[in-house]
Amino acid sequence: NAPVGTNFIRTVIDSDLASGKHQRTVTRFPPEPNGYLHVGHAKSICLNFGIKEDYKARGLAAECNLRFDDTNPEKESEEYAQSIQADVHWLGFEWDGQVRWASDYFERLYQYAEELIGKGLAFVCELNAEQMREYRGNFGEPGRNSPFRDRPVAENLALFRAMRAGEFADGEKTLRLRIDMASPNLNMRDPVIYRIRRAHHIRTGDQWCIYPMYDYTHCISDALEGITHSLCTLEFADHRPLYDWVLANISIGCHPQQIEFSRLELLYALTSKRKLNQLVTDGLVSGWDDPRMPTVIGMRRRGYSPAGIRLFAERCGVSKSENVIDYSLLEGAVRETLEAEAPRVMAVLDPIKVTLSNYEAGVTGSRSAPFHPQHPEFGERDVPISGHIYIEREDFAEVPPAGWQRLTLGAEVRLRYSYVIKCDEVIKDAAGTVVELKCSLDPATLGQNPVGRKVKGVIHWISAEHAQEAEVRLYERLFTEPRPDAVRGEDGQYVDFKQFINPESLRVLTAYVEPAVRDAAPETRYQFERLGYFVTDRHDHVPGGKVVFNRTVGLKDSWTK
Ligand code: ATP
Ligand code: MG
Ligand code: MG
Repeated sequence: NAPVGTNFIRTVIDSDLASGKHQRTVTRFPPEPNGYLHVGHAKSICLNFGIKEDYKARGLAAECNLRFDDTNPEKESEEYAQSIQADVHWLGFEWDGQVRWASDYFERLYQYAEELIGKGLAFVCELNAEQMREYRGNFGEPGRNSPFRDRPVAENLALFRAMRAGEFADGEKTLRLRIDMASPNLNMRDPVIYRIRRAHHIRTGDQWCIYPMYDYTHCISDALEGITHSLCTLEFADHRPLYDWVLANISIGCHPQQIEFSRLELLYALTSKRKLNQLVTDGLVSGWDDPRMPTVIGMRRRGYSPAGIRLFAERCGVSKSENVIDYSLLEGAVRETLEAEAPRVMAVLDPIKVTLSNYEAGVTGSRSAPFHPQHPEFGERDVPISGHIYIEREDFAEVPPAGWQRLTLGAEVRLRYSYVIKCDEVIKDAAGTVVELKCSLDPATLGQNPVGRKVKGVIHWISAEHAQEAEVRLYERLFTEPRPDAVRGEDGQYVDFKQFINPESLRVLTAYVEPAVRDAAPETRYQFERLGYFVTDRHDHVPGGKVVFNRTVGLKDSWTK
């Protein structure tokens, strides 16, 4: 784990500030509004906005922009753009100035394209997609020049203007850079920078029928915003020469440095919007915000806190080497932050009824208990008792294993925040299943140790009379395979990752919880003592009505066995 605050990118920034190359840092998070953000994007958000926050904290000038890379009108929507903004805010970050859109720069991008044409560095091509692929050639062999490559400047300019004016059909012509068809880097073989596409754009409507390509748009957008360090994932390393070529050949007074880092890959999860989309459209999850999804809204609904996700991103580190991370690192970070944040209450997920034979109404007392042992400011609540209580089925054993410290026939255990009880009788149904325990309580043990003997075990419980019924959703990992999208069959082909859905990734129980949680707002996180962290469901929980909890994470790591 990299120590907090350092990574190779910050080393570059530090030296740029030290040398005077920059007086400030400007980073950006540049999502395409074509889906919901996932944990990989969260890492990128934490990286880019984290630089701004930490450098500002050191008294240095730093900014971070949110820019939508909206150059594929067919795939983009306002809904996605809204959700991305909400996710960034929820993670606790704020962008500088207005939200930016690559489409805000369409006119300037167009003007730069005319500049490139004027310099003989771009041409209008009439090859179709298939021909273009063929001319481009493969690795290890040079490509061939397009027959349209040497058109005169004036003709290119007239044709490009006609493209913009809508005089050609979709796909009939493209604008390409004139770089080098023999370059070993395929990205440099006269890449297309404009295509004709009559698609309605979420922001510019039908104003344009030509759209700039990602590589051309991204570097210019960065430069127009005065980005100092343009951070992207490793697969863009081969695009960096193009990024630099474009900026070197237009009249723009800024040249951001592209720096690549490795993509986060989370085991037992998928980090691709396209694949996550398949889970949603095939109905394998309830939606983009299903608590099993590694999307930001899914993790949110699962009960992960922004602090937990930020700690996780920090621990993933930033480097150029493979960033394959086990799910337990995410769960561990979430657990660690919830430990301090979440009030504790009791819940019984798999109840057995216990009758307290010597309970006396009006005589047998109750205690109040703090919501958090280290945080008295969280307050206290009463933990009421009655003649019937529920305990967890697994806290009773008729034939206890060695070292058992829970309940068994003839032995004592403490009810958390209440009395010591002793089991006197076990009642079973015809099939031999335990259906009820008869116990007696020691009236002298409320808040005091019993006299003359030690009772080691403490179990959680709920008074039946006061119990609040709750729907509890227990989530496990969505996949049974660590890399569901990288499994090959006998034929060497990738097996459909949807085959590896964990059939037990969701179980729904009716449980009992303390009455103190009945009025909790949606998205309130608790620790259920001895069981784990749970959150009231963001959508289905109704305060004072239907109580619905999602299990966020258990108390211990059950996966690294
Ligand atoms: P996907 O393949 O899931 O569609 P993407 O990279 O196409 O992801 P963008 O919307 O273009 O999605 O991503 C916005 C930013 O998030 C980019 O700067 C990208 O590098 C970063 N990003 C996306 N996925 C990851 C990841 N797994 N790890 C780190 N950063 C990521
Ligand atoms: Mg992308
Ligand atoms: Mg993508």
